[in-house]
Amino acid sequence: MSRTARPAALRRRRQSCAAAVAIAIAAFAPLCLAAGANEHGLDFAGTDPSVAPGDDFFRHANGRWLASTEIPPDRSYWGVSGEMAELTLQRTVELIRAADASAAAGTEARKIGDYYASYMDDKRIEQLGLKPLAPLLKDIDAIGDRAALARALGATLRADVDVLNNTELHTENLFGLWVAQDLSDPKRYSPFLLQGGLGMPDRDYYLNPSQKMADIRSRYQAHIAAVLALAHITGAEEKAARIFELERRIAEVHTSRAESEEVLKGNNHWSATEFPQRAPGLDWPAFFGAAGLGKQPEFVVWQPGAVSAISALTASVPLETWKDYLRFHLIESESGYLPKAFIAEHFAFHQRVISGTPQQQPRWKRAVAETNAALGEAVGKLYVARYFPPEEKARAEEMVRNLVAAFAVRIDRLDWMAPATRAKAKEKLATLKVGVGYPDHWRDYSGLEVVRGDAFGNGRRAELFEYHRNLEKLGQPVDRGEWVMNPQLVNAVNLPAMNALNFPAAILQPPNFDPKRDPVMDYGAIGSVIGHEISHSFDDQGALFDASGRLQNWWTKEDFAHFEAAGKRLIEQFNAYHPFPDISVNGRQTLSENIADVAGLAVSLDAWRLTLHGGPVPSAGGFSGEQLFFLSFAQSWREKFREPELRRRVVVDGHAPAEFRADTVRNLDAWYDAFKVLPGQRLYLAPPDRVQVW
Ligand SMILES: [Zn+2]
Repeated sequence: MSRTARPAALRRRRQSCAAAVAIAIAAFAPLCLAAGANEHGLDFAGTDPSVAPGDDFFRHANGRWLASTEIPPDRSYWGVSGEMAELTLQRTVELIRAADASAAAGTEARKIGDYYASYMDDKRIEQLGLKPLAPLLKDIDAIGDRAALARALGATLRADVDVLNNTELHTENLFGLWVAQDLSDPKRYSPFLLQGGLGMPDRDYYLNPSQKMADIRSRYQAHIAAVLALAHITGAEEKAARIFELERRIAEVHTSRAESEEVLKGNNHWSATEFPQRAPGLDWPAFFGAAGLGKQPEFVVWQPGAVSAISALTASVPLETWKDYLRFHLIESESGYLPKAFIAEHFAFHQRVISGTPQQQPRWKRAVAETNAALGEAVGKLYVARYFPPEEKARAEEMVRNLVAAFAVRIDRLDWMAPATRAKAKEKLATLKVGVGYPDHWRDYSGLEVVRGDAFGNGRRAELFEYHRNLEKLGQPVDRGEWVMNPQLVNAVNLPAMNALNFPAAILQPPNFDPKRDPVMDYGAIGSVIGHEISHSFDDQGALFDASGRLQNWWTKEDFAHFEAAGKRLIEQFNAYHPFPDISVNGRQTLSENIADVAGLAVSLDAWRLTLHGGPVPSAGGFSGEQLFFLSFAQSWREKFREPELRRRVVVDGHAPAEFRADTVRNLDAWYDAFKVLPGQRLYLAPPDRVQVW
């Protein structure tokens, strides 16, 4: 159910390694595109005609680009999304600096400027040293019993996870909260409680027996000790061993990523009074009270087994170990706002070891990421005013309309689908709310206090501001116009319960979406992304939510069986991809995304054909219109990964690696015709093995 079309950046609280890259698009040619891209259109020089399309379409479309491209040193991967993210970052920082120079007191621009400038003021941060942490560490020292422990754990709860929309299932806090439309009663919001507590990305990092993962574990334990030592906490080695062991035990009881994605297993409503019986151990009233949820009558417990077992650990593991655990995670989560030594240690483990990134991003890039996290829509307002003209919004909206129309035709043509299901699908398509560029209503930041010179305090206040904004939604009517992504983010998302889509302005730009080239290339690139997102409303997860967002399967049994059979073939197709000898792509974990890729590609091809109205088919560079469409698709997936980052993604991501997503083309008959693909070639699938869902 990972909804995003693009690989989601690992969003660690505070010290973000969000999409941000080393070099500007204007400057990338010498380093990254030795082969030389066309300024508008496709990068023909980056293809590799020596690789047959039917053997390896990804390398046919991108081979010389892959051979000549180096990943910038402060990035764990590089490609089209990186190029667009870098350009957006450059533009954003200019807007922020301009805001800082001219802003009047009390305005959003002033808050943006103050937030950024405070983060950039590393001299002051060095001077303050550990001082900002002191009162928080003192609170942990004072924990004297299990009730106080529960209060301390409750005070760490943040709105930092998201099951269906942004699909962020990881938090290093013991639990994470997601406030969203209730899945049984879509007219109201509910608080969803998720498992958490791990410093590494997934339980697999703690439990996988491979030597590679064992090495990462010993590096992590050394990292814990280094962080404690930096904060002058004595006995760092022994404490690190105990903290690691506690996390290992939490990992043992964690629900797997794949299982956490099963919506029907997650929709468990517990009343607040049931927690002490169903999940004994933690002093739940104390926990919820400290989290500002003392009056909340009901929760959705997404992983009941894990929540219960973690709760039991809070009673059985010694109090002192928990206090060390809290100290470590406090420092760890705040490290972006602490002196350089902490930042360097955080980078050394979380980016270098986990993702393989050799060099840290410059401070200004991290400052932009943090400012985006704190004041995202205020920054986004400036971004779209400058970089997303009304003509481009109109052009994107027209494309969305064409995609929706093509999807409706496909639904009408499905001979296997029962008329009742088909009618419901059409109803759902008609009520789909598509947001293009930016939200209709902007968030109000007037309640957020930003103090120039107090980077640490600003970070804490911004995080709590966001948490309270989410708590305030409880009891309010559901707002289908709310966005979950900033306009200045290169990504797109389907909000399945809301039956809504967000296409941020930053993904609607060249080379994905370019007014200066033939539209066939836009349909191959961004059109497929739009089709991908639309189809999520109708895939194995989308089938679970009706037009109102209620968790209610609207398919007949026979229809669902047909769909599952198609899914099964796609699972097998992706299980057969082996990016590493010890890890293969998980066809089950990536199923929804792979179905969406197949559907998005097919529907975008239809939509493009419909725009021709029987007129002439374009060609360029010796390629036919359909060849351009597929090449544009495969080039939109050009990504190059560092080995540890690719490994991390294969383990935790709901998406398959970009290379295999590009090979989605092998499921479309039109691709075989366009490139004369024949039996015996590596990507060749016999017609019955080609998966066509819609
Ligand atoms: Zn998706």
